[in-house]
Amino acid sequence: MSNYIKNVLDDLQSKYGHEKEYIQSVTEVLGSLGKLIDSEPKYAKFKILERIVIPERVIIFKVPWIDDKGNIQINIGYRVQFNSAIGPYKGGLRFHPSVNLGILKFLGFEQIFKNSLTTLPLGGAKGGSDFDPKGKSTREVMGFCQNFMRELYRHIGANVDVPAGDIGVGSREIGYLFGQYKSIVNSYDSVLTGKGINWGGSKIRPEATGYGCVYFACEMLKTRKIDLVGQRVLISGAGNVAQYAAQKAIQLGATVLSLSDSNGTVIDKDGITLEKLEMIKELKNVRRGRIEEYSKMVPNVTYHANCRPWQLAPCDIALPCATQNELDLDDAKALVKNGCIAVCEGANMPTTLEATAFFQKQNILFAPGKASNAGGVATSGLEMSQNAIRLNWHSAEVDSRLQSIMVNIHDAARRAATEFGEPDNYVMGANIAGFRKVADAMIDLGI
Ligand code: NDP
Repeated sequence: MSNYIKNVLDDLQSKYGHEKEYIQSVTEVLGSLGKLIDSEPKYAKFKILERIVIPERVIIFKVPWIDDKGNIQINIGYRVQFNSAIGPYKGGLRFHPSVNLGILKFLGFEQIFKNSLTTLPLGGAKGGSDFDPKGKSTREVMGFCQNFMRELYRHIGANVDVPAGDIGVGSREIGYLFGQYKSIVNSYDSVLTGKGINWGGSKIRPEATGYGCVYFACEMLKTRKIDLVGQRVLISGAGNVAQYAAQKAIQLGATVLSLSDSNGTVIDKDGITLEKLEMIKELKNVRRGRIEEYSKMVPNVTYHANCRPWQLAPCDIALPCATQNELDLDDAKALVKNGCIAVCEGANMPTTLEATAFFQKQNILFAPGKASNAGGVATSGLEMSQNAIRLNWHSAEVDSRLQSIMVNIHDAARRAATEFGEPDNYVMGANIAGFRKVADAMIDLGI
């Protein structure tokens, strides 16, 4: 690692060592930029690394709301506007009790490079709250969303910052947030993406992250002349990304063996079919139940409480689609031992640094989330375009644009990795390809 990179990381560690996910994501990105930084002295001259690791703006606010018993509750709201060199801030909102500034800084930092990779003019941001929608009534969720937007509205705008969903923020929450925004500003702006299809949303946006992840996996497999048909796939999570990754994998002929939530994992050794997946969608999205129930609805399904999928069944491909650091070194060793040939991240940073290094050493095809899950934000970009021209594209058109964006991201990452002598290193390739565009724009825009 060059001295320049090491000094920036040491300085960040001394100031923000307590924000461990943020430090982890910066270490992953900067740690893979060494060859580029050594060959391009301009980045050190313009102090690009020191500048790119610090958010342009962090907004923190209180969100009081009233629960169904009439008690006042208070949560914390955040928006981390990380980098706007190539476009307005863009990135999701996460509602989960684990949310804190360090997690949102990691997610916002990742988003800069992900958005750059899509080739769309989008800066990087992330936001959310430690509010937990789980177990709350619809009225409580609506009340919270409205009060969250009562503050957030003054910091966002179609050409300023365009939030979307993430963990705990689906189309229901986007609806309440958008409804409140619209009634405050009296304008039907494209200020949120992930909107419902009847009020400004794009076809294929709900499917986009999961579909895109599978499209990316197919591109990686092609480099080794492997087809997805017949491959056994383990998927974690049972939310938006996991459901649509499963759907596309099944449609393309793979056998999906697992899904999970924060309580445990189901293994369906017969494979989850499209019909069974519809039952899971109804269970998770309508009844808001736990994945354990699936094992009671379908024969030959086992439930494993407090377990992640990785050590429960052999597979060829792993798609971690739940949350950060959900696949560690022990999981990685078990996956490789059991025959896994490819790991494609649907979630953001689900693989620990140690597990990533292990996969790379074992020559496993490994796609970092900032490349392989970029289909969601890319389709959000397409939603913004449709809103701007006041037209709705058909599903087939959006899906075909999504597919070509994922192919382009794959090729850009592979090209950059090849340029620096490691063609299979998608981590290095994605980081270099994403970084260059933003860093060069920062130089062009001055101090
Ligand atoms: P959802 O809220 O729809 O689903 C999240 C899933 O992950 C749920 O099954 C949830 O289980 C599980 N989960 C959440 N936290 C944990 C945890 N700490 N341990 C174990 N399981 C957990 O979110 P999404 O599907 O939208 O997001 C999943 C991942 O994909 C996140 O990393 C997100 O940042 C990333 N992502 C999402 C995009 C999108 O378009 N939605 C775009 C790009 C990335 P439970 O219900 O028990 O909490």
